[in-house]
Amino acid sequence: MTKKMNVESFNLDHTKVKAPYVRLVGITEGSHGDKIYKYDIRFCQPNKEHMEMPGLHSIEHLMAENIRNHIEGVIDIGPMGCQTGFYFSILNNESYDEALEAIEKTLNDVLTADEVPACNPVQCGWAANHSLEGAKEIARKMLAAKEEWRQVFAE
Ligand SMILES: [Zn+2]
Repeated sequence: MTKKMNVESFNLDHTKVKAPYVRLVGITEGSHGDKIYKYDIRFCQPNKEHMEMPGLHSIEHLMAENIRNHIEGVIDIGPMGCQTGFYFSILNNESYDEALEAIEKTLNDVLTADEVPACNPVQCGWAANHSLEGAKEIARKMLAAKEEWRQVFAE
C-alpha cells in the first residue's frame, strides 16, 4: 500500500470506484464553526474514459453559473485535471440530498442552454475552447445514470 498522502483523493483507490457518483470528500470546519463540504462529482470512470476539453470547459461554465440558482453557499465547482470529474464545495449545508438535487437541476439547465455563459475573451481564459454540444452530451450521460450517483464503490 502506498503511504498516506496529504490530498484526500490521492488516498482514494481509483481502481475501486464506480462512476458516475457523488462522494463527500470531507468537511472542513473553521474556528467559528462554519463548515465547508467538499464533494467529488465523478462523471467518468477513472482511467477508462474522460471528458474532452471543449465540452468539459463549457459544462464548467454552465454549472458554475447555474448551480448558484439552486442552492445556497456555493464556494466553487471546478474540474479535475484528469478530466473525469469536478470538485464542488459548499458552505454550511450538510445535506447530501440537497447537493444531489442541485447537481441534477444544474445538469438539466445544461440541456436547455442556448449558449455557454461568459464564453468570450473578456470573461474567460480560453474562450475559443468551448463546445455547448459537448457539454450537453456530458450532462445527458450523467443524468441518465442519476440512480447510481449515491454508490461510489463497485460491489
Ligand atoms: Zn473559461
